[in-house]
Amino acid sequence: MSEDLIIDLASDAYFMGQALREAHKAYAAEEVPIGAVVVREGEIIARGWNQVETLRDATAHAEMLALTAAQNRLEDWRLEKCILYVTKEPCPMCAGAIVHCRPERVVFGCPDLKAGAAGGWINLLESNPPLNHRCEATGGVLEDECVELLQRFFREARAKTAARRHRDSGPDAPLLESP
Ligand SMILES: [Zn+2]
Repeated sequence: MSEDLIIDLASDAYFMGQALREAHKAYAAEEVPIGAVVVREGEIIARGWNQVETLRDATAHAEMLALTAAQNRLEDWRLEKCILYVTKEPCPMCAGAIVHCRPERVVFGCPDLKAGAAGGWINLLESNPPLNHRCEATGGVLEDECVELLQRFFREARAKTAARRHRDSGPDAPLLESP
C-alpha cells in the first residue's frame, strides 16, 4: 500500500457496514450474502447485492451490479475518485471488471484464499503491467461480520438440504445421508 494514500479506517468501517446491509438483502432473498457499495467523495453513489439466483445470471455478483449502477449514476464508465466496498474479496471476473472501471480503491471484508483475485489466490487489482489500471486493495474491514453472515448462510443451506433429503426419503431415513 502506498504511503501517500490516506486511509480513514473509521469511514472504511462505516461504508463496509453499508455493504453489509446489501449483503443482508441477498441473505433475505436466499442468495449467497455478498453486498457492495460504491462511494465517491464520501457519498454512496451505488449499491448492489448478489442476485445470481434472482436474475438467473452467473455474472450478477454484487460488485458487477454496483459497478454498473455507479457508471449509470456518473454517466461515465470511468469511476474516478471512487471506492468500491464489498463484503468478500472479489473473484477474478469482478476484479477484471473493477480494473476496467478504474476506481481508486477496493475495500473488502473477508478474504477468499481459494478464489479471491485481490491477493487471496491471485492479485489482479494491484498487478501492473499487464493491466492498464492499478487499484489499491484493502482487506479485513469488518471481516468477522462478513464471514459470520456467509457461514450462517451456508450452514442453513446445508441444514435445509439435509432436511429435504430426509423428507424425500421418508421419515425413517437417516437425517444425514452418504453422498
Ligand atoms: Zn465476483
